[in-house]
Amino acid sequence: MAPSPSYDVIVLGLGGMGSAAAHHLAARGARVLGLEKYGPAHNKGSSHGGSRITRQSYFEDPAYVPLLLRAYELYERLERDSGRDIATLCGGVMIGRPESRPVAGALRAARQWDLPHEMLDAKELHDRFPTFTPQDDEVALYEAKAGLLRPENTVAAHLQLAARDGAELHFEEPATRWETYGEGVRVHTADSVYRAGQLVICPGAWAPELLADLGVPITVERQIMYWFQPTGGTGPYTPDRHPIYVWEDADGVQVYGFPAIDGPEGGAKVAFFRKGTVCTPETIDRTVHDDEVRAMANQLAPRVPTLPGTFLKAATCMYSNTPDEHFVIARHPAHPESVTVACGFSGHGFKFVTVVGEILADLALTGATAHPIDLFAPGRPL
Ligand SMILES: Cc1cc2nc3c(=O)[nH]c(=O)nc-3n(C[C@H](O)[C@H](O)[C@H](O)COP(=O)(O)OP(=O)(O)OC[C@H]3O[C@@H](n4cnc5c(N)ncnc54)[C@H](O)[C@@H]3O)c2cc1C
Repeated sequence: MAPSPSYDVIVLGLGGMGSAAAHHLAARGARVLGLEKYGPAHNKGSSHGGSRITRQSYFEDPAYVPLLLRAYELYERLERDSGRDIATLCGGVMIGRPESRPVAGALRAARQWDLPHEMLDAKELHDRFPTFTPQDDEVALYEAKAGLLRPENTVAAHLQLAARDGAELHFEEPATRWETYGEGVRVHTADSVYRAGQLVICPGAWAPELLADLGVPITVERQIMYWFQPTGGTGPYTPDRHPIYVWEDADGVQVYGFPAIDGPEGGAKVAFFRKGTVCTPETIDRTVHDDEVRAMANQLAPRVPTLPGTFLKAATCMYSNTPDEHFVIARHPAHPESVTVACGFSGHGFKFVTVVGEILADLALTGATAHPIDLFAPGRPL
């Protein structure tokens, strides 16, 4: 007979989602082992770079809104319980032509869920936020509850609370493989084999390797974050005066940016939303090239003219895209008794980490969740 499991739940991958799952599981009294390939809150996956956008009038699909409302409650709780800076709700604008995806989609979600918002024409947008110089035919949806999250602090906070509640967290210990057996799961690392009743896999960009039999094609993409020191300084860009923004141009290219949160010399961050190149965690080019910096400066020049003053630095990160850009959060279809998965966050998952942690704890401990996750079923038509 196999020895009885040493843990109730093993969490494989302690990035954005896995750290949140470890916290929620440990807070409910489960005996948790967390295994992470790198160190705590590292910069080699998808959860680094100092800031992530959060917003509620969700242009991707109104079905995400109830999850966001819960995610926001949990940010506050996390901030209180960990004593760390997690969320800055500086407001946000979705900018583009009225029919663009960010504007039309956000308006649809705001109306469907009765979320507070304001519509601004081009002049009103420029008057309120003078750093933006929109075209006459562009408009904006302003949402006071949008803002930014601090990804490294969020991961560190979840790890801190998980450890406080007794979770064993092993860093620099990659899982080499996992399998189910009669009474649960086994996870192998270079030196050990760990057993548990349940396994929660949160692999980020390593999904193609760790979840090959999931049946969902996931494409990993290299993405770049850029920091520029604005001409004239960061004064007009501080979070008390400047919102986060997503701006779609007439060709459908989306750029998004943040207020200046790293002090007077730290610049402000900006990035293209989905304009990446296919890669793997092993092959990703971590160098950012001059032509890439120029392309970003050219995109900004007519829209946020003072922002591309001096280029400061850039960093790479990975998206894990599903074909429909919706997440995968479910019991593993091939191992429904003992394995839960969370992957394919398609470049927009961070704002959900808190609620995803809660959902993963529900699924691992009870097999079901009251949160609406049908959109994320791996068996949906793809
Ligand atoms: C540039 C960029 C900008 C983004 N902007 C936003 C935004 O503004 N708003 C938003 O909501 N979302 C945004 N996202 C998306 C969001 O950050 C991701 O969806 C989210 O961070 C994914 O979390 P994860 O836990 O799936 O992945 P990760 O945080 O990468 O975690 C996966 C973990 O698994 C570990 N792992 C892998 N293999 C193994 C193994 N064999 N053994 C042990 N551990 C392993 C990895 O080391 C890693 O720590 C952005 C992403 C990028 C890259």
